[in-house]
Amino acid sequence: MTALRIDVADLLAHRTTRREVALSATVEGLVATAARVGDDEPVALDLVLERISDGIVVRGTLATRWRADCSVCLDPLEQPLSLGVNELFEPEPLEGDTYPIEEHEIDLEQLVRDNVILELPLAPVCSDTGAPPCVDPADSRAEPPPPDPRWAPLSQLDLKQ
Ligand SMILES: [Zn+2]
Repeated sequence: MTALRIDVADLLAHRTTRREVALSATVEGLVATAARVGDDEPVALDLVLERISDGIVVRGTLATRWRADCSVCLDPLEQPLSLGVNELFEPEPLEGDTYPIEEHEIDLEQLVRDNVILELPLAPVCSDTGAPPCVDPADSRAEPPPPDPRWAPLSQLDLKQ
C-alpha cells in the first residue's frame, strides 16, 4: 500500500460527499523523452475527491519539479511544474479514460504518472526556465558578419521623407 492509495469508503457510503486530500509522495518513473522528475523529487497533490453517481471525481493540482538537459546547449535545467487534473474513478473503468475504484480504495499513482508525463516538455530549452534564449555551441561559429561600414550611411536615411 503506497502513500497514494486512498481509502474512499466514506465517500462510497455517502457518509461524506467530498473530501480534501493534500499529500506529497515520490513516484518512480516520471520520465518523458527529454525531461524527468527525479525518483526522490516529491509530487505535491492538492485535491478534492467528490462523490458523484458514477464514481468519484478527483480534481485539483499536482506540483513537482522536472530536470532535463537543454536540447540546444545541453546545460542542465530545472523547473517547477504545476498542472490541473480532473479525472473520474469508477468501479468499471474505461481503459485509458477513467481509473478504477478497487474495493474501497483509489490509487492516485497512475493518475499522477499519466498527467505529469504528459506535461513534461519534449524538447526543453533554456528559455523555458525564463533564461534568455541560448545558442547551440555548434552554431556559435556561424555568427552573422558585422555590418558592412559602407552601408552605414544608408541606415541613417529616413525613408519616410
Ligand atoms: Zn540552453
